[in-house]
Amino acid sequence: MKNIAIIGIGLIGSSIARHIRANNKEVIINIVDNSKLELEKSKKLNLGNNYFENISSCKDENEIIFICTPISAYNVIFGELKKIKINDKTIITDVGSSKSEIVEVAQNILSNSVKFVPAHPIAGTEQSGPESGFEGLFNNKWLIITPCKNSDDESIKIVSNLWKSFGCKIQLMDMNDHDSIMAITSHIPHIIAYNIVGTASDLEDNLKEEVIKYSASGFRDFTRIASSDPVMWRDIILSNKVPILKMLDKFEKDLDGLKNAIKNNDKEKLFNIFNKTRDIRKRIIDEGQDVKEPNFGRKN
Ligand code: NAP
Repeated sequence: MKNIAIIGIGLIGSSIARHIRANNKEVIINIVDNSKLELEKSKKLNLGNNYFENISSCKDENEIIFICTPISAYNVIFGELKKIKINDKTIITDVGSSKSEIVEVAQNILSNSVKFVPAHPIAGTEQSGPESGFEGLFNNKWLIITPCKNSDDESIKIVSNLWKSFGCKIQLMDMNDHDSIMAITSHIPHIIAYNIVGTASDLEDNLKEEVIKYSASGFRDFTRIASSDPVMWRDIILSNKVPILKMLDKFEKDLDGLKNAIKNNDKEKLFNIFNKTRDIRKRIIDEGQDVKEPNFGRKN
């Protein structure tokens, strides 16, 4: 690999750039971002070799093009990629947190001969921007690939090997399964966090002050998740509507069950619900998925 392009130099894009910069110094990194400010920051951080505001200004020699922008920008980006003549060796890949809608957009815009490998690293933090990325972000994390009509075996292999070199474990998955799993493991937890912190922030002023003052770990953890980038999360939620709404229906039913158990002083039911969930926590820890993100001097 000699040339790559990264479109969107935020948390994920800059972590990819940092890894390649540290481990494959000969690779030319072309950074594309529509924000002059983020490009300036990336230059200062020495994340790439060349910097562009638009992919069409970038030479047609990239072997890999990573799309690392919020999902609402994909339409425009695939449109720009369609306009420039994509080299037949070029593989387009992405990191978007939902997959079916992205694949639909890609397949509506790109011709069948363009190679596209949809991917999603299960790694991240609540931070955004090029300054928040770090080289080890993907170490020992899952990278899920959801192949589509534009993904041939060779391209899947190349993208898999690339992410393996970033330290990822690779899983191929059907895109609809991916979206259902992410709805419950990532998207609904964010919705709950935004909702609970929103409820607290709507409390009367005096009560709100006390909530902040006495915040213990439970609420504090929710505020960390609810500080995630609002544009990115708006896009993720709207691009995975159907599985999210389905899971939220189930969640509402379970919440009603909990409410009734509280109303009726049903000690046994409450105990059984709280006891059942401990097992999931144990299994996550046993599988080594409880690794804490490095803090990097953040005051949280
Ligand atoms: P981020 O830090 O907000 O960075 C995104 C960057 O893309 C910003 O610099 C943004 O510029 C730029 N951008 C927006 N529209 C663009 C366009 N049309 N052309 C070029 N650049 C554009 O976002 P992130 O956290 O890295 O997330 C990026 C993607 O990764 C998302 O699709 C998300 O679903 C996925 N993902 C995120 C995480 C996570 O934990 N953060 C984990 C896994 C996957 P402006 O700021 O000026 O808009």
